[in-house]
Amino acid sequence: MLAAAVLADQVDEVVVLDRDRYPDGPGTRRGVPQARHAHLLMSGGARVIDDLLPGATDRLVAAGAHRLGHPADVAVLTSQGWLRRQPATQYLLTCSRGLLDKVVRERVLTSGRIEVRTGTEATALLGDTTRVTGAAVRDVDTGDTGELRADIVIDATGRGTRVQHWLAALGLPAVAEELVDAGLGYVSRVFRAPAGAESDFPLVLVSPDPTTGRPGQGGAVVPIEDGRWLVTLGGTRGGTPQTGPEDFAAFARGLRHPILADLIAAASPDGPVHGFRGTANRRRRFELVEPWPNGLVVLGDALATFNPVYGQGMSVAAFGAAVLRAGLRDGRTSRVIQAAAARTVDDAWTLAIAQDLRYPDAVGPPLDKGARLRHWMSDRMTHAATTRPTVTEAFVDVMTLAKPAATLGTPRVLLATLLGPGRRTATRPPLGERERAVLDARSAAR
Ligand SMILES: Cc1cc2nc3c(=O)[nH]c(=O)nc-3n(C[C@H](O)[C@H](O)[C@H](O)COP(=O)(O)OP(=O)(O)OC[C@H]3O[C@@H](n4cnc5c(N)ncnc54)[C@H](O)[C@@H]3O)c2cc1C
Repeated sequence: MLAAAVLADQVDEVVVLDRDRYPDGPGTRRGVPQARHAHLLMSGGARVIDDLLPGATDRLVAAGAHRLGHPADVAVLTSQGWLRRQPATQYLLTCSRGLLDKVVRERVLTSGRIEVRTGTEATALLGDTTRVTGAAVRDVDTGDTGELRADIVIDATGRGTRVQHWLAALGLPAVAEELVDAGLGYVSRVFRAPAGAESDFPLVLVSPDPTTGRPGQGGAVVPIEDGRWLVTLGGTRGGTPQTGPEDFAAFARGLRHPILADLIAAASPDGPVHGFRGTANRRRRFELVEPWPNGLVVLGDALATFNPVYGQGMSVAAFGAAVLRAGLRDGRTSRVIQAAAARTVDDAWTLAIAQDLRYPDAVGPPLDKGARLRHWMSDRMTHAATTRPTVTEAFVDVMTLAKPAATLGTPRVLLATLLGPGRRTATRPPLGERERAVLDARSAAR
């Protein structure tokens, strides 16, 4: 939708093909199965979405999404302890993915300049090694096939893209791919928030701990629209959760801290447990394909997917759309735009794989000689972030993709990191009195 919005400003006619059908409301759909799981929109991506679609995030909040200041409205247990809830320098938008998609879709399609053909899938690219001239299409109901000619084709078909095969069919060389897979499995369930927590409650997150040599397990209670919480739990290979309702509560109870289990026990289930596997970090190096055909750009998950624990995918998809806009405005070739899109993946990719390679049986390249030092530094930085405002701010800036990862290497941040946390990291979740009362009410009821 973001790419379509960008194109609609610069070309005469835009056609969106989707093999799926869109729900009228904020529901889930087959084509985006990950939508049942927590989707945090980081401020880095949210600002870009607002730049592409002015007013989009205000609409989202008006429709029920929460705008949570980070770290003020977020209680995070990092691998090194609880992060202090100091004044917010960034934010997160939390709501169901279905609501996010609905609001963005409506905002993009109101212009009336974009034609949407749902129930229509792309099955191949038209053209040759030098130029893509359209897509072969198929009606998913009737099986009728056809061709759609275009000056520019954007592949935004997500993690299951077939574009590498379509390029091979045009005679282009294989696309190099990088894979790091910690074998993370997700389970999620929607709950009704307990009394007093329906409209205002922090995001509570227990991060998986990559430092122990054991599978990483964690989860989050995410406030979403209509007084509900979306609770997502996850574990890496050897420690993945099951989808049974009792397993759900038991998995939460077995985490490093019982807070998620206590919050779940205070809330009422509002739907079944859904599972998701296939959460690998996968990066396709289209920018290295030689020659690259003009008229084709690959964006979003088709370009790169990330372990969802880090909440980066939608933001990086937005960065790709912004790069597309800049490239089209400047009259760049698809090759140049594709190379720029690849650069928007770099930071998110590095952050995700640096941690994921530490989990037992992670699939990926072997750790190099510098890994031990980098891990020491990253653990020390996380530790310092729990109490030193300078490091907290830099850490939050980078985690929300609001600033480049290089920010962590500035002398101020490095010095504060080397000095360490300075004082004891909090051992109790940083909840305010009213927030704690939600847990206490539940203990009193037992
Ligand atoms: C479990 C999980 C949790 C996540 N949590 C977060 C999070 O907290 N924060 C975050 O930023 N990101 C998160 N992500 C990542 C996020 O879901 C993706 O980055 C984002 O959806 C990518 O958008 P996209 O448009 O590239 O692909 P998608 O949203 O997957 O959309 C692909 C579209 O292409 C259509 N399609 C597919 N094939 C064809 C075809 N051949 N022809 C026509 N149409 C086709 C599909 O129907 C669908 O509409 C998570 C991912 C997972 C798996």
